[in-house]
This record gives sequence, structure tokens and C-alpha cells, in this order.
Amino acid sequence: MSTLSSKLFAEAKKYIPGGVNSPVRAFKNVGGEPFFVRRAKGCRVTDIDGKTYIDFIGSWGPNILGHAPVEVTNAIHHVAKDGISFGIPNPHEVDMAKTITQWVPSVEKVRMTSSGTEATMSAIRLARGFTKRDYIVKFDGCYHGHSDSLLVAAGSGALTHGEPDSAGVPKAFAEKTIVLSYNDPAALTKIFEEKGDQIAAIIVESYPANAGLVFPKEGYLDLLSSITKKYGALLIFDEVMTGFRLGKAGVQGLENLTPDISCFGKVIGGGLPVGAFGGRADIMDFIAPLGPVYQAGTLSGNPLAMAAGLSQLHVLSRGTPDGFAQLDALGKHFAAGIRSLLTAKGVPHSVNQVGSMFCIYFTDREIINVDDVMKQDMEFFKKFFWACLDRGVYIAPSPYETGFLSLAHSIPDLDDTLTVFEEALAAI
Ligand SMILES: *Cc1c(COP(=O)(O)O)cnc(C)c1O
Repeated sequence: MSTLSSKLFAEAKKYIPGGVNSPVRAFKNVGGEPFFVRRAKGCRVTDIDGKTYIDFIGSWGPNILGHAPVEVTNAIHHVAKDGISFGIPNPHEVDMAKTITQWVPSVEKVRMTSSGTEATMSAIRLARGFTKRDYIVKFDGCYHGHSDSLLVAAGSGALTHGEPDSAGVPKAFAEKTIVLSYNDPAALTKIFEEKGDQIAAIIVESYPANAGLVFPKEGYLDLLSSITKKYGALLIFDEVMTGFRLGKAGVQGLENLTPDISCFGKVIGGGLPVGAFGGRADIMDFIAPLGPVYQAGTLSGNPLAMAAGLSQLHVLSRGTPDGFAQLDALGKHFAAGIRSLLTAKGVPHSVNQVGSMFCIYFTDREIINVDDVMKQDMEFFKKFFWACLDRGVYIAPSPYETGFLSLAHSIPDLDDTLTVFEEALAAI
């Protein structure tokens, strides 16, 4: 079909590798081509051919209020009039740091970055510098951005394209990253018995959400916490996706845990490029200029990004019930609707949902780690994806990605989506 999107994609491929600036956008996993966006407002995205979709990706997490919320666009306009970037301390970054430390009790001090990748990469360097140890432990299918130490058995785009490891990551780096299966307490205990005094940190996605959406078994997160304490290692919670989405204090708030370092991104940037890492003050004071661990950024703490993020946090926290509680109600309504639809149609399924995050699996096995996620019916997913897109519903173009709701999704929007799902199932 010769659409404006297909023409532009052909042109994009001449100048941009694969036509995209981040791999999962290429739609390779569903066998087709992406559309190009013209504009987006609320829960809807309109492409350059004029077709509108209800969006369940929300820029892969940041857009928790929907697209172009007026509070955020106003904040950006307002702040931009006084300058866009200074490389000089500005009041917005203090405001942001103060807000994060007030909302997340484990974070006593915080440093801003320009992406989630930088946040996790810096947290790892800090943990190694602080403990003077080299090994880190991560979990199969957990995605922590694309820095060298962390691009080992990663999820998200790396998993989607069947490249859990990347070319260009030296073996010597990867060897310092120990990869374990998630939700397997025995494997964790064993590795700490063998190498505990050489392990700097465990890094974990608080709820793994880049290879489907997986929940920890009862007691598993407590074990991560107690075992790191016992062996003098640090616990790094990667809350880039869950932070400020599942409540003021993310998963650590829901699970009542106190990680040593936490990483953030996505929602705190309000759609501008932002990340952050923070934690215990004595650990954070190990960073330059106070300490020996170097970490920096030309645009870190950028005033536009801070103001956009702060305005988004402000909207989420106001009202009774607050935004998080409203999102939770939307998520429960949607997940219940999907389950009853798939049950009525006799489609094997498992639907994981927490707050505004959801994942539909076309399998009825219990999902406890990435191996289970990989065993679903991929061909069925592809057909379902295209049938939904045709009918104006945009879900992630990969069965490994979590879906997101925003405060701009109304109950009627969700019910319209369920009708589309029903039509899509009938068509395939
Ligand atoms: C998105 C994500 C990252 C990487 O953030 P970027 O801003 O894309 O660099 C890291 N960790 C988790 C859990 C994420 O979801």
C-alpha cells in the first residue's frame, strides 16, 4: 500500500539505520512497517495519513497523563522563555531532587541524567566504586538500558530481535555480569555462597516489565534485600519504568523495601529526555565532585526537562483519589474486561496487570520468568496486533512489551478498545 508513512519510511531508511532511532520502533517483530506520527493528544495518536489510533504505549512509558497534557506543555513554554540550557545550576533541579527524596524515602540524595540508560550505567559504576568489587548480578530478561555491562541477557528491543547480547560488548565486560534466572531463590543463594565477597550489586527491574510483565514470587524481593546486606553488596532497584507510575514511591513503596540505590526515568521527564539515580547519602557522596566515582552530563538537570517532569508529578499527586489511584481503577477495569473477553472466546490467555501497566499473554501457563514469556503463541500475537492496528488500536508491536494506560484513557475509551479486541479476535 502506498501511504505517506510507507513513502517516508523508504526515505528514512536511506538516512537512518533501519529507518528508526530505536530498534523496537521498526515493527520487525510483527513483520511490517511502522507509521509516522503527525500529532498526538490525550490517549490518541494521528499518523501522517490522517488515521487515528487509541495508543497503549504512551511513548513507552513517560506519557502517564496522555499526550501533550496542557500542564506540561505550559510548563515547557513558560520555562523556555528564560533560557533552554545553561550548564549552570538552576532552581528547577533542586525542586526536582527535593520532590524525589520526599516521595521515595530510600532516596536521600539524587543525581539527574538525560536517560534511563545513563542512570543505570552510573548506578553500576557507583556500586562498583563504593564496594571496590567488580561483579554485578542481573536477571535474564531484565532490561536496564544499553550500556555495555548491562546488555547481557537483556529484554526489550534486544530480546525482540533475538539478540540478548550485542556485538561490540567485550567478553571481558560481559564476564563481570552474572546472569541469573528471575524468581529462582536457590540460584541466587548459590552464587552468593560462591562469589558473595566479590559482588558489588544486584540490579533488578523492581517488577520486570521489558520481557512481558512478571511479578516476584512471595518473599523473593525480600531475599534480594537480605542477601545483599549479608554479603555487603548493594541492591539497585531499576524503577525507570515503574517509578512514579505505580505510586509516589514506585514498587519499593508498594513492597515496603529499602534499596540502596534506585534508578528512574520515563515518567519523571514528562516526555523530555530524563533519568535519575539516587539512594543512601553515604553512597551518593561517593560521586564527583565529592567522591572518586566520575559521573557527568552536559544537559543533566535541564530546566525544561525538570519543569516538564515536575508538572507531571504535580498533576499525578493532586486530587482525591489521586492520579495513581485513578490509574489503578482504570487498569483493573481494563484487565477484567480483557480476561472475560478472552475466556468467552476460548482463547488461552494470561493477563498480568498492576496499576496502569498490563500485559496480555496468549498462553495459559503461569508466567514467572522470561522462559515462560517466550513460550506464548507468537503467530497469534502478530495477527492480533495487525487486526487491532487496522481498527484503530495501537498496542506494542512486540509480544514482549508491557502496555501502558494514562489518565487520558477514559472508561469509554477502554470499552471501545475491548470492542476492537473482540472484532480483531473474530477476524483472525
Ligand atoms: C526504558 C528503561 C531503561 C532505559 O531507559 P532509556 O531512557 O531508554 O535509556 C532502563 N531500565 C528500564 C527498566 C526501562 O524500562
